[in-house]
Order: sequence, then C-alpha cells, then structure tokens
Amino acid sequence: MAKHRYLVALGSNMRHPRHGSPRGVLAAALEALDHGKLHVLAASRVIETAPMGPSRRRYANAVALVRSKRDPDELLAKLQKIEHRFGRRRTGRAWGARVLDLDIVLWNGGPYASEDTDLVIPHPAFRTRRFVLDPAATIAGRWRDPLTGLSIQHLRARLTKPRCAPR
Ligand code: ADP
Ligand code: MG
Repeated sequence: MAKHRYLVALGSNMRHPRHGSPRGVLAAALEALDHGKLHVLAASRVIETAPMGPSRRRYANAVALVRSKRDPDELLAKLQKIEHRFGRRRTGRAWGARVLDLDIVLWNGGPYASEDTDLVIPHPAFRTRRFVLDPAATIAGRWRDPLTGLSIQHLRARLTKPRCAPR
C-alpha cells in the first residue's frame, strides 16, 4: 500500500549536458521521480530565484507531492540515487553549484528524525525559504507543519507580510 505522502523540494543551478538549463533539469527530475514505487501526484511550476550564498548562479526550484510506500530513509536513499544519476557529486560545499538537489520537506507521518542517517523531517530550513514555500503554496497550501501547527500558506504569509512576521 502506497500509504505515505511526501512534499519534495527540487532545486538546480547548473546546466546538464543532456537536460540543458536548470529548468530542463527539474523537468527531467520530475519524470525520474514519477517512477517505480514513487508516484508524483502534483507538481508546481518551476520558479527561478536569485542565488543564495556565494554561488552566482540562478536557481530553478519546484516542489512535488509524492505518494510512496517507502519510509523516509528509503525515500532519501532513492532521492540521493537520482541526484547522483544527474551528476551530483557530494563535495561538502553545501552552497555550491549543484545539478540537482532533492529535499524532503514534509511527510504525512509527523515529526521524524532518523536513527541511522541525519535525515530530519520537517526539513529544518523550509519555514524561511520562499523558493520552497512559494511553489508549495500552489499545490499544498493547507498542509500543516507539525511543529508550528501553521499551514504552508500561513508560513509563506509570515515571510511576505511584515505584520505576520514572528516577533
Ligand atoms: P542541502 O542542505 O543544501 O540540501 P545536501 O543536499 O548536501 O545539502 O544535504 C545535506 C544533508 O542533509 C544530507 O546528508 C541529508 O542526509 C541531510 N538531510 C537532513 N534532512 C533532510 C531532508 N529533510 N531532506 C533531504 N536531506 C536531508
Ligand atoms: Mg539536499
């Protein structure tokens, strides 16, 4: 039974020899995600964002709603396999150029911390990232963060409207 639901964030800021621009990389990554034991139920449009950190390249970002019977550790292993297939090599530079980054933002199982890996869900940084919240609001706006109790829509409003900003 494919009982789990995941919100997966996709990012790219490098061209790929076959898939082309970061936007093309994300289109191909969405196809790769919708395969085998993973089903993409919905995908946002791809947005382009200015770079964060020292990297000068523009980012393409999107999110996808994924159904799977894989548990979080299995899903992360699968996502890392896809990243690797797209040419991503772990260099230790978290902000560097990367062909493809796939993160688990939320799942329907509540707060999760793996005993075997460093996987943490909800993704610790997603509440302040517009490049996650903007596309996520278009396909999963009512999904609530289990730690704050706030919906994705609300978390996004908190970032974009000063009067909702946390004190
Ligand atoms: P970034 O933080 O930019 O996504 P990486 O993709 O290199 O950087 O991931 C760094 C580490 O983050 C990986 O070793 C991965 O196991 C860990 N990690 C922890 N929580 C998550 C999550 N929710 N989704 C994806 N990776 C995660
Ligand atoms: Mg990552």
